Formats: sequence, C-alpha cells, structure tokens
Amino acid sequence: MKKLLLLPILFFVTILSFAQDLSYYLPNDVTYNKAVPTPKDIIYHEVGEWHVTHDRLVNYMKAVAAAAPERIKFETMGFSYEDRPQVLLIITSPKNHARLEEIRQQHIKLTDPSQSASVNTENMPIVVYMGHSIHGNESSGANASLVGAYYLAAAQGKQIDELLDNVVILFDPSFNPDGLQRFSTWANQHKSKNLVSDPNSREFNEVWPGGRFNHYWFDLNRDWLPAVHRESQNRLTWFHKWKPNILTDHHEQGSSSTFFFQPGVPSRVNPLTPEKTRS
Ligand SMILES: [Zn+2]
Repeated sequence: MKKLLLLPILFFVTILSFAQDLSYYLPNDVTYNKAVPTPKDIIYHEVGEWHVTHDRLVNYMKAVAAAAPERIKFETMGFSYEDRPQVLLIITSPKNHARLEEIRQQHIKLTDPSQSASVNTENMPIVVYMGHSIHGNESSGANASLVGAYYLAAAQGKQIDELLDNVVILFDPSFNPDGLQRFSTWANQHKSKNLVSDPNSREFNEVWPGGRFNHYWFDLNRDWLPAVHRESQNRLTWFHKWKPNILTDHHEQGSSSTFFFQPGVPSRVNPLTPEKTRS
C-alpha cells in the first residue's frame, strides 16, 4: 500500500524535474510564427534540459536566421582559437533591413561632432548590442539566448513590430565559444540522472581551467580594453562598426546571490531599479 502511494508522488517529482517547454519562458499573449523552428526542433532538447553546446547554439542561430530572413541577417564576426564561429545576428524590422547600411552610416555620424548636427534622429532606430556568457561557465546567458532569438524571430503582433522598428539588435549568443563548449561538455557529462542541488556534486566542480576562460586560459572579460585576444578583436571590430547606444552583457551570479551592481558611484545605478534588488 505504501508503495502504491509512493508511485504518484514519484511521478509528480519526476515531472517537476523535467525542463520546461518554451511557454514557461515566453509571454503567453503573443502568437508565434510556426515557420520559425523552436530551439528543441534544432538542438534536440528543451532549453534548460541540458547545457547547450556551442555547436548546437550556432545551428539554432543559423536556423532562425534562415526561417526569418526578413528580420534576421546572419553574420560571422570571426573565429575563436578553436575555430568556432563568433556569430552575430542583426535583428530588426524588414523596413529597417531594407536600408540597414544607411541606418548604420547615419548612426555613426552621431559620434562625429562635425556631422552630428546634420543627422535627423526623428525616426532613427537605436542600436543595442546583446552579448551572452563571456564567462563560458556562466552559461545561463547563452542558454537564454536560444529563447531570446526565438522570440525576436517568431513573435507576431504590434508590440514586436514596434520594437523591431525602433531598434537594431546586434545579437551575440556567445562571447566565449571555446569556454562555453568546455563548460557545457563538462556539465552535461557529469550531470546526475536525477537532478541534485548539492554544490559538492561533480557536475558543479569543473576541473581546471573550467569554462570561464578562452582557449589560452584568459578571462575575456578582462580583455575589453587590451583586446589582445582574437575573440575580443573580432567582436570589437563589429562594435566599432556600429557603435551601439547600449551594450548588454549577460553574466550569471550564484543561485543565492543578488544582482550585481558596480560598487562606488551610486549614480551608476538606474533609478528604475528597485532598492530591494540592489546588493
Ligand atoms: Zn561573469
């Protein structure tokens, strides 16, 4: 009898430990273009079920770009030391894509004081660079980029149309391809069949050098200014080609940590950020 009672409980626990499908992450008041593949269609697992490897991530970015060419242009910025492509999706409305180079040139003029006064900014989209997981073992960024790319490629309706009319998004799903590949291989290889949260689990204790670094064990987050590594050089070439208004840099904190805010100068904190979330 006790065993019979246990069965439904085990079943329930098993359901809970499965990764969620996309409806968990996405707004439910939006319809999605069925011609755009979901991440699972291409990478063979739900987002969050396994750590996405860099090569599957690239496969997905190629697939969304091919399925929504009116919104997405696929670019390869260069290659990591282990010859993994550094992918950049340029995402904006079809109307903006039709004059993308003109938008870029107008936008760049704003950085030149001798020309900026002549630029009409009335209907000029802003430029946002979204970069993910420069520390390869802070992989929630790269895994979240699957959902982000799907939404931007497939969502339908007024809200997404307005967003894409007003923004050119330079979407970089993996700042550190070699680190992401190293970490995802380790974590997937050592993951327990039944999920565990014990920090002593082998899954959570990578061997040196771990996925934080690039091929030469260099922390690419320390290379934005010196730019001695090819991943940084390739990325910064595109950064300066576009000079984005905003760059978002998707890292990861520990599961019990707050969000990170730069210490020292209070004015750096966006006033819209609630007090309780500041560390
Ligand atoms: Zn980090």
